[in-house]
Amino acid sequence: MSQIQNEMKKRRTFAIISHPDAGKTTMTEKMLLFGNLIRSAGTVKGKKSGKFATSDWMEIEKQRGISVTSSVMNFPYKDYQVNILDTPGHEDFSEDTYRTLTAVDSVVMVIDGTKGIEAQTLKLFKVCKMRGIPIFTFINKMDREGREPLELMEEIEETLNIETYPMTWPAGMGKRFLGVFDRENEQFVHYTGNEEEEYIPYSELDQHPELTENATFQESEEEMEMVAEAGDTFDMEKVMRGDQTPVFFGSALAPFGVETFFNSFIDMAPEPAPRKSTEGIVSPDHEEFSGFIFKIQANMNPQHRDRIAFVRICSGKFERGMNVTLSRTGKTFKLAQSQQFVASSRGTVEEGYAGDIIGIYDPNVYRIGDTIVTGKSNFEYDELPQFPPELFKKVTAKNVMKSKQFRKGLEQLVQEGAIQLFKRYRFEDYIIGAVGELQYEVFEYRMKNEYNVDIELTPLGERIPRWLKEDQVDESLFDERNMLAEDREGNPLVLFKNDFSLRWFKDKNPDIELTDLFEVN
Ligand code: GDP
Repeated sequence: MSQIQNEMKKRRTFAIISHPDAGKTTMTEKMLLFGNLIRSAGTVKGKKSGKFATSDWMEIEKQRGISVTSSVMNFPYKDYQVNILDTPGHEDFSEDTYRTLTAVDSVVMVIDGTKGIEAQTLKLFKVCKMRGIPIFTFINKMDREGREPLELMEEIEETLNIETYPMTWPAGMGKRFLGVFDRENEQFVHYTGNEEEEYIPYSELDQHPELTENATFQESEEEMEMVAEAGDTFDMEKVMRGDQTPVFFGSALAPFGVETFFNSFIDMAPEPAPRKSTEGIVSPDHEEFSGFIFKIQANMNPQHRDRIAFVRICSGKFERGMNVTLSRTGKTFKLAQSQQFVASSRGTVEEGYAGDIIGIYDPNVYRIGDTIVTGKSNFEYDELPQFPPELFKKVTAKNVMKSKQFRKGLEQLVQEGAIQLFKRYRFEDYIIGAVGELQYEVFEYRMKNEYNVDIELTPLGERIPRWLKEDQVDESLFDERNMLAEDREGNPLVLFKNDFSLRWFKDKNPDIELTDLFEVN
């Protein structure tokens, strides 16, 4: 095996998706503990401890306490090199959150066992499904009285349209929680309330009458047997296609079941996969370096216009100081300075392989979705998908004298992928679309700081965008409520006021074909 092959096979690059408060942070902290990255849990979010919030990147990020350094975490575990990418939630949700999912090889979905599937999990899940990313599920908070495991499995299957395969099965919950059956390793993982998990092989269970004679234990065992008989069989190929999800139960807080989960997951999770490019499939062990930019972090320091581009390495070996070609322009750059693993250590990185994420200094030349390569090849990876915005606002310059800068800023920020631009049909009104409020804040801040333009944003509220065919545009059918607009390329679309309006419109106009960007790409 070549060194490149050897290294890339060790990589496990994944994101954790969940709804706020499901336990993603707690889970991440526990994983970092496995990597000995932090001595005691509770230090992941700058928000909570301040420990990682040491960078002086973008002012907004500082104010909000979002820690850039924790957006990519990497550590060795057993024979693996683990890369965890953060997917910001809450008010920090943005298109970047979605784009992060283009840079991972698998996803861990953390579900609050007391709540089941929630809105944000569903949104992120859809993107994973669309891209065929393998999904591993951890049902959290088993130390609390929650919903029945069978009911949760059913909900996952029905809401997400994916098969489930329980890798572990819980015995009780809340105060009656005894532990989980580890089906793969044929052992019972006993919840003792201590840090250490106690593993009892099935063959030795008869020495534990305190368990086998417990009614909760007996019930769960029967339930598990029923699931084994009636449920889906484990199918690794389906898992790899994202059509089946292995499910684990536990408590990130206790912590309990996290280690059992992580050990199974890390062995099953895929190494970096070959990726499609304009010159065919590129293998991760291809000897030439290649990667694509999935995120650009602007203006870390208001005095400089420095930016950091986040690169997902897709093949070959990255070495500090190497020359790369930006495929879009054909220009060559030396990756000399400032490139760093945007990791816990924040040090400069000397080398990297497929699956790794590096931050490179961006002298304002990169765009989201750009490919960088070495050697003779000059291919580009598939374009990153556009994600349908949900929030819309009208934007104008406060000072009409600044309209030139306004247009310039708007154009550049749109090109960069910071926001999406629309226009009201036949009007010169600019409308900007985003998936999260944070994008507007960043946009406003950057317009002011980089282009010296104060802007005015008028909310149009949450809207449902649907594209329609040019020849089916009938202006008389639309108004403020269901607003006709066009996207950057001039394609017509309707910004529906809500789900009800959309359904009403469809009922009244069955001949008009409406498409969701999601399905188009
Ligand atoms: P995030 O918003 O998804 O990152 O969630 P956090 O990890 O910050 O957790 C949200 C809240 O749930 C915190 O108060 C945690 O202490 C709590 N929590 C997380 N995991 C568990 C768990 O397994 N059991 C219980 N009882 N609480 C948990």
